Amino acid sequence: MRYVSTRGDAPVLDFQAVTLSGLASDGGLYLPEAWPTLTIEQISALRGLSYVDTAVEVMAPFVAGVLTRDDLRTLCTQAYGRFSHAAVAPLVQLDGQHWLLELFHGPTLAFKDVALQFLGLLFERFLTGSDKHLTVVGATSGDTGSAAIDALAGRAGVDVFMLHPKGRVSDVQRRQMTTVLAPNIYNIAIDGSFDDAQALVKAMFNSPEFSGKFTLSAVNSINWARLMAQVVYYFYAAVRLGAPERPIAFSVPTGNFGDVFAGYVAAKMGLPIAKLIVATNVNDILHRALSEGDYSQGTVVPTPSPSMDIQVSSNFERLLFDLGGRDGGALAAQMHGFEATKAMRLTNAQRAGTGPLFASDRIDLDDMALAMRWAHESAGEVIDPHTAIALAAARRIDLGDTPIVTLATAHPAKFRDAVERSTGARPALPKRIGDLFEREERYDSLPGTFEAVTAYIGERATPSV
Ligand SMILES: *Cc1c(COP(=O)(O)O)cnc(C)c1O
Repeated sequence: MRYVSTRGDAPVLDFQAVTLSGLASDGGLYLPEAWPTLTIEQISALRGLSYVDTAVEVMAPFVAGVLTRDDLRTLCTQAYGRFSHAAVAPLVQLDGQHWLLELFHGPTLAFKDVALQFLGLLFERFLTGSDKHLTVVGATSGDTGSAAIDALAGRAGVDVFMLHPKGRVSDVQRRQMTTVLAPNIYNIAIDGSFDDAQALVKAMFNSPEFSGKFTLSAVNSINWARLMAQVVYYFYAAVRLGAPERPIAFSVPTGNFGDVFAGYVAAKMGLPIAKLIVATNVNDILHRALSEGDYSQGTVVPTPSPSMDIQVSSNFERLLFDLGGRDGGALAAQMHGFEATKAMRLTNAQRAGTGPLFASDRIDLDDMALAMRWAHESAGEVIDPHTAIALAAARRIDLGDTPIVTLATAHPAKFRDAVERSTGARPALPKRIGDLFEREERYDSLPGTFEAVTAYIGERATPSV
């Protein structure tokens, strides 16, 4: 499988190179040159397979030429062996139509472990025996950082510089990052929002002077391998509920558009998905884009669902590219316009393309709290604020009797204060991270400027050879 950039002007890469890289050199994001498909028979045959075996079937076409199915099985067995639930991603029924897909049984209690545990092992495999030293630079609204740090702490050949917006991640999220004292992990609290942190990371990749000195790599969802690992659970859940004979809908709490884009990839591969519901909080750029064609950046409003407090969704570019006929030149012009004016209109082709598959909704604080209470009182499930936003959107849409799977992206204990405010129940931290609040923390605070952050990293990172 070969990978191309959404902006049409970067080298074509194989799976190994695309995994180790971040943003493409033309500022775009990498995608497979063509979507592989599974036949109805192949999808039916996934029924009853374990999570690891499903992962092998779904991911094999994307890694062809670089990893064998046996390699893939070994990596997945190791990655998902660290999950605390035997099913890895269990389905929980809420009522006759609604289900939760629990994606938070990994080491850091958020769905990002599903992709990052796997990505950490891929890095190790691709770096073993090479003299490459990777400098991972990332921005996090909380969950990516902790999941990436857990996956990469102590691994040879990689340093991690993780930027988080100071004071805007939960205590559990911050401690999960800052109590990891491995010498290859650097936590940086910057003044500003997640979007400011993400813009700094993009600027580092786009600066030939800075990026030329190091072998920079990304672990946020601009990394293709992460999205690929997330495609798996759409298949895993759907076949359990009757696909491919019965189409299934998914409701996805959305920030950077990575998780829901993985659902789009599953649909492209042939999985009958009735609807992908893009659920946003009041930071609703994606809801405005999908419902009105208006992709214009507002100011970020902090909410109890911080991983969705985003006004620029990097992965949306991948969708626009695919829907706009994969014209890299035209998309580059559109994105440059957006970068200059912070606003753009979707083209007619892009709008028509989102129509059949995507729906969207914007959920405010009251509706989020109501969804948490409904899950607690009528189904006995305590859910986190991100999951509650997607569940609220799932309960508001009319899809007849199509089953709707809400992706449960974080363990409620990760956002205990918000959960307690809405439901009165205070979720206990699972045993495996029980002493988090006793551990020593280590991080540095920096102003959110390019100069400050590049000077800090420049002094500590290993230059490329
Ligand atoms: C990252 C995250 C999201 C948003 O996922 P995207 O792929 O960025 O759209 C939603 N919920 C939780 C708990 C997250 O950590």
